[in-house]
Amino acid sequence: MYNNDRNERGYGGGYNNRRNNNRYDNRGYNDRRNNRYDNNYRGGDNRMPMPKKKVAIPDLSGEEWKNKLKLPTKDTREQTEDVTATKGSDFEGFMLSRYLLAGIFEMGFEKPSPVQEECIPLIRMGKSVLARAKNGTGKTGAFAIPCLEGCKSEIKETQLLVLLPTRELALQTANVLKKLSKYLNLEIVTSTGGTNLKDDIIRLQAEVQIVVGTPGRLHDLNKQYYQKERVLKLDKCKMVVLDEADKLLSVDFLPAVENLIEATPSDRQLLLFSATFPSAIQEFKAKWLPSCEIVNLMDNLTLKGLTQYYAYVDENQKVHCLYALFRKIAINQCIIFCNSVNRVELLSRKISRLGFPCFYIHGQMGQEDRNRVFHNFRQGECRYLVCTDIFTRGIDIQTLNVVINFDFPRSANTYLHRIGRSGRFGHRGLAINFISNDDRYNLCKIETELNTEVDPIPAEIPREFY
Ligand code: AMP
Repeated sequence: MYNNDRNERGYGGGYNNRRNNNRYDNRGYNDRRNNRYDNNYRGGDNRMPMPKKKVAIPDLSGEEWKNKLKLPTKDTREQTEDVTATKGSDFEGFMLSRYLLAGIFEMGFEKPSPVQEECIPLIRMGKSVLARAKNGTGKTGAFAIPCLEGCKSEIKETQLLVLLPTRELALQTANVLKKLSKYLNLEIVTSTGGTNLKDDIIRLQAEVQIVVGTPGRLHDLNKQYYQKERVLKLDKCKMVVLDEADKLLSVDFLPAVENLIEATPSDRQLLLFSATFPSAIQEFKAKWLPSCEIVNLMDNLTLKGLTQYYAYVDENQKVHCLYALFRKIAINQCIIFCNSVNRVELLSRKISRLGFPCFYIHGQMGQEDRNRVFHNFRQGECRYLVCTDIFTRGIDIQTLNVVINFDFPRSANTYLHRIGRSGRFGHRGLAINFISNDDRYNLCKIETELNTEVDPIPAEIPREFY
């Protein structure tokens, strides 16, 4: 799947070859016909309302309904307690419609994970919930499943609003909602910054039951009027989800988030999900969710299947060390984090010159480039991705087994979110940290804060660890 020879020149526009101004030439990237698209990819001209693709709804009556489902190949990899330590519930015990169950099973979900087991019944009962669970343990399903059950296709107004801090995450989450609701006949619109506002205005003229997006853009749409009607009407929206809630409550997002919540009915359900909840959340909780249910599945903070190592290196040895790692360990797919946009671009160029084609992504790239890189990396078109913290949160790529902190992060929260990109859904993963002299203190601090141990990298890393 990962043919390194395919691209001996490296890539540009997130694909690492800037020599040529025409960034997409010769690579099949300027020829849309050669690109594979799915719901995750949304180029600039791909956002106009399209007639909804009709999914054939199977007849699921009768005892044998499960035999009619198109189940994916079973994932037989070993899983850790982070996702298996449940009380033994199953999805059928949650009183969900058979058509939603069909979507769940066709996604390959057989049993709920602990966060799903805790949250689904509470949300079904109409409670507001503040849930804390580790990265990659099924948080999206924990809100998506009960919220979808609560949406009715015969009601034409927006009933569910899902807010996320990044555009990539919004597209990924919308995609999960679409897959789960495959047979529910719900209209889901994703709206994020960096794209044409007019297109979103037109798309929201349809009867849209679910809106997913980033707060800034949705707030703009909520203030906009089209033919004397608000473009984004939220007065019937009874469920609001804040995923990666701590980030959404930071100063950058909070005003837009609060404005959006205010536009919803006062008895709406508010659902907050994150792996990290800073103390600042208390104020928000007191104001918006005084009597919510709290689900906390973070007795220890780091993922159980994740092995963490550090390599003590001088700044000028880092690239060499990375090269040695690439040659030595069996990387399926890997994210390499740097602390600045400049370093991302520089490093990705160096890596490519060493003969390892890589992609890069950072917040100063245009949205189309970001989408394209995200989509193609996800499709397994490249083994290595160099990025800033833009890619830290929530991004779910099951084939990713290694995360490398080329630059060590400054905070425990960022560390936790970064390393959580590997070891998804209880699978094993590896996190390798390059520690320079200046990072030593920070490493100790983060180890203490997270109550975790990061070992020196051994000469051989056992294959079963990742
Ligand atoms: P999340 O934490 O929501 O990003 O989910 C992490 C990964 O686990 C995603 O790839 C999901 O598709 C997968 N996943 C979530 N819930 C389940 C489940 N109950 N069974 C199997 N896989 C799941």
